[in-house]
Amino acid sequence: MNKHNLLYWLSSLLVLFLMTSCSVVSAFSPTETPTLTLQPTQTPTPTLTPTPTEIPFYLNATVFSGSIQTPILLYHRFVPDYANTDATQMRLEDFKTQIQTLYDNGFYLVSLEAWLNGTFVVPVGKKPLIITLDDLWFADQLYINPDGTPSQYSGLGVLWQFSQEHPDFGYSAAVFSNMGDKYYGDKQVGEIFQLGDGDAWKTKLGETIAWAVDHGIEPYNHLYKHPLLSIMTSNSDIQWQIKMNDEDTRYFLSKVGREDLFPKLGNVIALPFGEWPATESGINVLKKYINPEGKPLLAIMEAYNLGNQEMSPSVFSEGFNPFNIARLTASHYMIEWIVEQKDTIATAQNCQLGPLDETQSINLDVIQAAIQSAISTQACPEGVYNVNGSVFVAKAGVVTLFKSNTIEATAEQTAPTATATP
Ligand SMILES: [Zn+2]
Repeated sequence: MNKHNLLYWLSSLLVLFLMTSCSVVSAFSPTETPTLTLQPTQTPTPTLTPTPTEIPFYLNATVFSGSIQTPILLYHRFVPDYANTDATQMRLEDFKTQIQTLYDNGFYLVSLEAWLNGTFVVPVGKKPLIITLDDLWFADQLYINPDGTPSQYSGLGVLWQFSQEHPDFGYSAAVFSNMGDKYYGDKQVGEIFQLGDGDAWKTKLGETIAWAVDHGIEPYNHLYKHPLLSIMTSNSDIQWQIKMNDEDTRYFLSKVGREDLFPKLGNVIALPFGEWPATESGINVLKKYINPEGKPLLAIMEAYNLGNQEMSPSVFSEGFNPFNIARLTASHYMIEWIVEQKDTIATAQNCQLGPLDETQSINLDVIQAAIQSAISTQACPEGVYNVNGSVFVAKAGVVTLFKSNTIEATAEQTAPTATATP
């Protein structure tokens, strides 16, 4: 090594030393602005361009396939557990047992109106069930506590409590009233209800009807004074009995300022004593009745006891007659019969339609074609399809639109999907 080289080597060492010490010093002087180190800027690792993982879009349809029918149960009044019972008085404890049994066997409450117009839907794995009550309004049928909850000493209150504990049972009932043959027991005394002072019962009844409508109970017509139609000779008297009942229901609602509920009131008649008018013209008074809001009569309910009991067909079934809707008078034996027959009632199934272009999934033609494709590939069975409230019928290889959802359809899937608890 010559002198020159040695000098170079030493000066390099010095520079290195200075650089090192400098970096040590700077490490201890936090105020110093950081010198730009010549760290090579990191070449960006090429981010993996996401392969467009297209999630295929499917629409959930609820499908009823096979025999689409339902039991429609008929109840009347409810009594405390210590009281005697008969065909029109049921102990609340027995009622609880009955609804528990029906729930355990996969039934789900649907509204009578939805059943009649074909838009009913139940969670997948469930079977439809309709509960009706006649002879309203008695407080033992529905009574609202001061805190706004329905009383556990009233049948519809017991049903409400059950549905709160079992949301996959639903909450719905059709109630048929005689507005002109009784007062309403607005005062609770122990486990029963009595008429209170003055006109207080009118307000209480108005509030009770409003609670009912607000919570999925459908009030209908059982005629003003529960007349025996078969012995009525005047058609105008029959007309009066129907009309007065509707007007009185609205009177009680307006008494508590709930005229807003009028449009929700439907038009269905339950025959008092299950008896028809004696004449054809008398029968037509019923069939042609238009309610105060202009709704035509949707159906007439009958009643059957054990011995000639039958399930009620749906609007999709052959033999459906809206003016002869069968009902089953509820009893321990009737519930057993329903459970024995449950395999004759279609269970809701799920069918995935698609894959679809999500933006097209509210297009009824697209849905219809998707159902057509699903049944022709046998991915899904023929039957009645409910897709976000629109209803299609797939039968003999052909799919037809039965009813489109009047509410603006959304791509969101609104059909109940609660799975059946075993
Ligand atoms: Zn009755």
